[in-house]
Amino acid sequence: MSGWSVTRRLLLGHGVSAGFLLPAGLVRAATTPVPVTHKPGAHPRQAPQSPAAPPPLVMLDPGHGGKDPGAIGISGTYEKHVALAAAQQLQALLQHAGQYRVELTRRRDVFIPLEERVARAQGRGAALFVSMHADALADHQVRGASVYTLATTASDAQSAALAQRENSADRFAGSAFHGVPPEVARILASLVRQETRLDSARLQHGLVGELDRDIPMLQNPARHAGFVVLKAAEIPSVLVEMGFMSNRQDEAELRRPEHRARVVLAMKRAVDAYFATAGHATRMAG
Ligand SMILES: [Zn+2]
Repeated sequence: MSGWSVTRRLLLGHGVSAGFLLPAGLVRAATTPVPVTHKPGAHPRQAPQSPAAPPPLVMLDPGHGGKDPGAIGISGTYEKHVALAAAQQLQALLQHAGQYRVELTRRRDVFIPLEERVARAQGRGAALFVSMHADALADHQVRGASVYTLATTASDAQSAALAQRENSADRFAGSAFHGVPPEVARILASLVRQETRLDSARLQHGLVGELDRDIPMLQNPARHAGFVVLKAAEIPSVLVEMGFMSNRQDEAELRRPEHRARVVLAMKRAVDAYFATAGHATRMAG
């Protein structure tokens, strides 16, 4: 059920026996600081959803807010309002079946710095992070949805700096890897990042496929860039551009609850598929 990978579960104390992945001593060292809810004898394949385990937390992130309106549409629509409305619709949809816990980084028109959005998801132990936007382009002809993951290759100086922070194990050394030798922390951090990249790409693939069934898509809709909100090393994260405020048609459609309902229904199908086909199953087979 859970899309959480072996290493993330290990680090965050969900207690799956990870001896197949890492030496037992190292596992013990890495997990010592966090409470373990391991059920003795549980097979790793069954462990992600023990009876006591709460449903996975999906953190939705409506872009912008407060003093930051985001993109402003041709007829005056604010991106921040579209983003919040869509996120609330998706939250209601995801919560309806009871399979997930769903929280929003902001529930009203308030400004929250990008780093704080990531920190909230991390602090709450989110299993997924989905940022929702409808930005603007200089070319008003361009329309359609697209889905971003964090860039792994730097295209400019800012992305390079982002990647450098991303690649540092220091953040982990202070928290989940407390007391672990630096070289071991680096290995663990690398494993976490690798799994997170794979899971982010898998969610992105699913989102593009599902959105493409129901709404117009941007050319090459699976893209990547150095978005700050996607930088959580341990949480699979995507940013969905639901359309462009700079395009008259997209703006008009995104104002309509019925259109947003189509968008979020497609997103829900992708989230369902993500958790149903959890990639950790194949990685745990070793
Ligand atoms: Zn935006």
